[in-house]
Amino acid sequence: MPVLPDEARAKILPLLEKLRLELQEASGGNDEILFSMKRYIAKRLEFDERGTPTQRRKLKDQKWKSQRGLCAGCKGELPERGAELDRFRAIDGYTAENTQLVCHACHRRAQEERDFV
Ligand SMILES: [Zn+2]
Repeated sequence: MPVLPDEARAKILPLLEKLRLELQEASGGNDEILFSMKRYIAKRLEFDERGTPTQRRKLKDQKWKSQRGLCAGCKGELPERGAELDRFRAIDGYTAENTQLVCHACHRRAQEERDFV
């Protein structure tokens, strides 16, 4: 995982503080609305990075077919449920070129190896 440089962090913190204040104001002091607004924004930012669940499901199906139901790591049969998309580079997102479908154990191993590089 790339580390956020200090200079970038210094820029983002005031932005985050400003967003919090604006959300507070936009919610009109209603805690439930504020809660929902924060969740809504968090989800949209997550979709920016990871795509929507529907897009990822489609990619999984596509990978399942192209890999003929086999894990790209250990070549074992993938579980019916719980096969995981592994990104070679997280920043490149969930594209066909940047992902492989793996079992949970292979995914963990791949992530650990990448973190220690
Ligand atoms: Zn595997």
